[in-house]
Amino acid sequence: MCIIFVLQINPKEAVKFSDFPVSKKTLRGLLEAQYRQPTEIQRQTIGFALQGKDVLGAAKTGSGKTLAFLIPVLECLYRNQWTAMDGLGALIISPTRELAYQTFEVLRKVGKNHEFSAGLVIGGKDLKDESLKIHRTNIIICTPGRLLQHMDENASFHASELHMLVLDEADRILDMGFADTLNAIVENLPKTRQTLLFSATQTKSVKDLARLSLKNPEYVWVHEQAKFSTPATLEQSYVVCELHEKVNMLFSFLRSHLQKKIIVFFACCKEVQYLFRVFCRLRPGISVLALHGKQPQMKRVEVYSDFVRKKAAVLFATDIAARGLDFPAVNWVLQFDCPEDANTYIHRVGRTARYKEGGEALLILLPSEEKGMIAQLQEKKVPISNIQVNPEKLTCVRQKLEAFLAQEKEQKERAQRCFVSYLRSIFLMKNKDVFDVFKLKLPEYATSLGLAVPPRVRFLNKAQKQKDEVTHEISTAADSDEEIKSFKAQFRSDQSSNPDSQSEEEEEEEEEEEEEESDEEVEQVKSRGQLCSTDEDEDEDLKDLDLLTVKRKDVFNVSEDQEEEEDPMAKSKKVSRFKEAKKAQKRNFKVNTKKVFTEDGEVVQQWPPLQTTVVPDDEEDDEDTTGINVEAAKERLRREDQEFDKKEYSRKIKEKHREKRLKEKAARREASKRAKEVSWSFINMIKPGDWIALL
Ligand code: ADP
Ligand code: MG
Repeated sequence: MCIIFVLQINPKEAVKFSDFPVSKKTLRGLLEAQYRQPTEIQRQTIGFALQGKDVLGAAKTGSGKTLAFLIPVLECLYRNQWTAMDGLGALIISPTRELAYQTFEVLRKVGKNHEFSAGLVIGGKDLKDESLKIHRTNIIICTPGRLLQHMDENASFHASELHMLVLDEADRILDMGFADTLNAIVENLPKTRQTLLFSATQTKSVKDLARLSLKNPEYVWVHEQAKFSTPATLEQSYVVCELHEKVNMLFSFLRSHLQKKIIVFFACCKEVQYLFRVFCRLRPGISVLALHGKQPQMKRVEVYSDFVRKKAAVLFATDIAARGLDFPAVNWVLQFDCPEDANTYIHRVGRTARYKEGGEALLILLPSEEKGMIAQLQEKKVPISNIQVNPEKLTCVRQKLEAFLAQEKEQKERAQRCFVSYLRSIFLMKNKDVFDVFKLKLPEYATSLGLAVPPRVRFLNKAQKQKDEVTHEISTAADSDEEIKSFKAQFRSDQSSNPDSQSEEEEEEEEEEEEEESDEEVEQVKSRGQLCSTDEDEDEDLKDLDLLTVKRKDVFNVSEDQEEEEDPMAKSKKVSRFKEAKKAQKRNFKVNTKKVFTEDGEVVQQWPPLQTTVVPDDEEDDEDTTGINVEAAKERLRREDQEFDKKEYSRKIKEKHREKRLKEKAARREASKRAKEVSWSFINMIKPGDWIALL
């Protein structure tokens, strides 16, 4: 009876949720959560899903895909009169823990009148404890890795009765390299199940997955005919900026958007870690938070909830925050580093302008990234326009960073790790037309992070050597342009497919234990941020509003000019000192010397003492004819400094490794003690009528 009724439903006529044949319990849940009218993707997929069909649903970010599968999940179990005794009835797979958690929250809201049990299986904690509850759970929301672990290791886990499988953000699950895990999971599930697959972008890999896991599916591509692939309410622009100006750019941006909720995306964790800390110290006048994969799970949840709660704040994040997360009322998405590809761009900007709300997105591109990235975005139907920065509104924070680094050695090490990690992330990017690590101006970049000397990057030196060799061989051996091209292409693909080219030391660094930011510290940071937004700052806020409105070109050249204007002064100083020294030389002046003799006439003390350096003696005499070689002296000082830094750095790394090993030992002991402790990432059982999760 019910099915006949469903078949008569015309999705186009479904104006309210009650136009669909859904249970009163679900309808009440929807109403109580203020969901009244279905969105387009919900209208088009719920009908098919209620008929028991497999569906591949694709729609832009923020268009309501979560309810498009949660309603069918609840209805499927309800119609089958599912009880706690029936075990697992529906499985929802998410790419990240945060998204799984968020979906779980929506399920709790709309399903609160049902009597199913539901749980989060997202890893990070003891498998045994989860195992005790998992076989009594009706709806599981999980990440792929953890689920497969249960399938492999937990004898009490079985999915033989599974009715419905949902893959949310399927494109991201595949991008993150979970394809094999997903295949292994799907192989363990009954063939009779119904499968719903959702994604924000239609990639080839999603279509392949659909072919493998769906039976006679209905394809719903809501925005196929749409002119653009991003929400219409999203305003998008990009600015071209030199690498060494990006930190100033970010600071100035934040100073001019103090009352906003902003997410800033970075290329790697270590960049987030370093810039988060220094920005907290810079006190931009807005709360600064950080979210990245190296934080412990509890911390991630805390930051996530904190950002959700706040009206104005900036979240520094890696791409773990780019996938599916629904932070309410985000005004701005700022991409500090160029995204890997257009799809990643679409996911990142999708954190704003959700469900009819407005939003703005700004992408910062290096001059070398502009052409390739903009072409990709245009191809993906992303409407984006170029804007200029008002150079007068840019605040330079370099000196402050230098001062911080001089005060705290730990910060300096963080800055060095940030530098190396960023370069590595660029080096490992596949698309070499957009990302070329050899085009980056390293000394300037290091200075902009507050570092006096660029840290040594061994993998880069190796790659440069390799590159030089290849170029040399090409110029001597290759006869035609064609050959050169293919050789270069070969080299590029070798580079991108050969992450082994990282040196051992770099890998060690990567493995290095990340300190957790103590809660206390974050609290301090938060209060600092709030304290900063005083009246004075608000005035500043108004003043700075026009940071992004200037239509002039090459603004950074202008500021470089300004710097150059200052430079002549510095230069003339140097020249005059140099001249003075020359004059002194000509006049045959000598610095006074004092010698102390013993009674036997031996010299025991000499003033000034003879200087020694780490530079070999033979380099000492490459002075020019005037007797003083300022450049050589400068170079010598720089090398001494570098040498010292290197030693200090590797000593610190060794120390850290030792500490890490000790900590790990202690943690292992502690973990075995706490094996039974229940925490948020364990299964959260929802007893009949009780939707309170054990978070
Ligand atoms: P997507 O998964 O497509 O990115 P979400 O499911 O996260 O989008 O939904 C985006 C936002 O829209 C959420 O804040 C959600 O609460 C809201 N939303 C979804 N469906 C509706 C609806 N039918 N009515 C009102 N708000 C909705
Ligand atoms: Mg989603």
